[in-house]
Amino acid sequence: MTDVYSFSPPPVISLPIVGTSKLFPVRRIFCIGRNYSDHVREMGGDATKDFPIIFTKPADAIMADKSTIKYPLSCKSLHHEVELVVAIDKPLRQADEEASLLAVFGLAVGVDLTRRDLQAEAKKNGLPWDCAKAFDQSAPISAIKPFGVLPASLQGEIELSVNGKVRQSGDLQQMIWSVPQVLAQLSNYFELLPGDLIFTGTPAGVGALLAGDHVSASIAGIGDLQFQIA
Ligand code: MN
Repeated sequence: MTDVYSFSPPPVISLPIVGTSKLFPVRRIFCIGRNYSDHVREMGGDATKDFPIIFTKPADAIMADKSTIKYPLSCKSLHHEVELVVAIDKPLRQADEEASLLAVFGLAVGVDLTRRDLQAEAKKNGLPWDCAKAFDQSAPISAIKPFGVLPASLQGEIELSVNGKVRQSGDLQQMIWSVPQVLAQLSNYFELLPGDLIFTGTPAGVGALLAGDHVSASIAGIGDLQFQIA
C-alpha cells in the first residue's frame, strides 16, 4: 500500500453480523435525538412531530461489544443513551418509507455516549454538538442482527443497566418516528449508502457514568451489548 499512499491507510471499520463470520463494513454514523417523548420531557423539551435533531459520529468512534472505554478527556458528565441502531445496505435518496424498509440490512443495540456538560453548553450557546457527541470511543455497538424483511412497526423492550441496576427501560413502540420514517426523512438530507448506521434515539432514564462502571444494554429480539468504563 505504501507505493500508493504516503502511509498505511486506516483499516475498514466493521461490525460482526449474527450468524455469519462475514463483517458489516461501516461507512458513516447518523444519529437522531429526541425520538421518545418521555426522554424529550426529561430533557426539558416538548415532544412534537417535528423531525428530531440530526447529528453524526465518526465511524471510528465505534467500540465492539465487551470493550473497555476510556473516560473522555476533561469530561465532567458522561451520559449513557441506549438506542436501536439500524444498518443499511442499499442506497436511499429522497426515498419513501417502503423503499426505506427494504434498505435495512439489520438491527443492533448501541449506546450514544454523550458528554452532557458540553452538550448543555452547546445548546445554551447555539453551537454544534460535535464535542458532546462525536468524541473518541463514543459509539459502542453490538453485533448486527440481519433481518430479511423488517416489520414496519417494531416492538421490544429496550433496556440499559449500570452495575446491575436498571437505569433505562422502554419499548421500541414508544419511538415517535418509526425506522422507515427516520430513514425516509434522513434521505431528504443525505444520500444514504450501504454501510451507513443510524442511531434512532433513546428512551427516558439517561444518566451519568463513572470510571469503573459496567454497562449492559439490550433490545429484546435484537441483541445485547456490554462495556466497561476504564
Ligand atoms: Mn441519543
